[in-house]
Amino acid sequence: MQIVRTGCELKTITTGWKEAASSIVLVPTMGALHKGHESLISSGRDCGDKLVVSLFVNPTQFAPGEDLDKYPRPLEKDAAIAEKLGADILFAPTVDEVYPAGFDTWVEVPQMGATLCGKSRPTHFRGVCTVVNKLLNLSRADLALFGEKDWQQYAILSRMVKDLCMPTTLRALPIVREEDGLALSSRNVYLGPEERKQAPMLHKGMAAGKDLLVSKGVTAAALVKQEVLNFWKENFPLAKVDYLEVVDPLTLEPIENIAGQARMLVAAYVGKTRLIDNIVLVA
Ligand code: AMP
Repeated sequence: MQIVRTGCELKTITTGWKEAASSIVLVPTMGALHKGHESLISSGRDCGDKLVVSLFVNPTQFAPGEDLDKYPRPLEKDAAIAEKLGADILFAPTVDEVYPAGFDTWVEVPQMGATLCGKSRPTHFRGVCTVVNKLLNLSRADLALFGEKDWQQYAILSRMVKDLCMPTTLRALPIVREEDGLALSSRNVYLGPEERKQAPMLHKGMAAGKDLLVSKGVTAAALVKQEVLNFWKENFPLAKVDYLEVVDPLTLEPIENIAGQARMLVAAYVGKTRLIDNIVLVA
């Protein structure tokens, strides 16, 4: 595996791959790799001839006061994981490399980016779309893999790729969870012992809401959400819910009566840590 630090070098390599008619897969990450990232990298290895894993803590998707500075950056450990799982290139650029002096172009999906997480993180998805655009251009990926964990991100990026006729296919892979149900996240390390103990209730509450729909046939989103909130009130006193919504998985529009495809998304603060999760209600 080669560690590449500059976009110019990456583009030279991927252009050579294209000329040799190799298919290219990209797995974009912010590093601190865990089993969720590992499942994307392993799948990526099976999905094409060449595999690029990117590792970049993207400052433009963090707002002032968020955890940009304390976000974990274990580069050597991450490189060992990416290499073990068969990446051809680990692309780990500096901030100046991605955002050189004079950088002034932004990619935005304003409506979908303003809802759900966008309400409390209004500039977040603009940063995500812009950096993923750059990563797709440099890697020349035919396929890019994302986690369902960040469903809003995946829905927005899919919209961007469609709207701008970008030549990359995006695919989302299932959420990898701890045995107790907590979705793996690089931010789980911030949780204190009692917070970590209660955190699996985030998923358990949503599963209880889904059960109301699936076992009892209750299709009113308000009742399903209330079931979840009741569960959390009882079992997850440390949670401060930022939002809990039932949405159309493609458009992220809220759904009142669950008849077709639907997904329930949540963000909640547990102490100072903001956790997100989601669950398919109707596939
Ligand atoms: P991040 O490093 O948090 O930006 O995540 C990089 C990619 O890994 C994104 O596509 C995430 O959705 C995905 N990812 C993060 N956590 C998980 C998880 N628990 N299961 C599956 N994919 C995940």
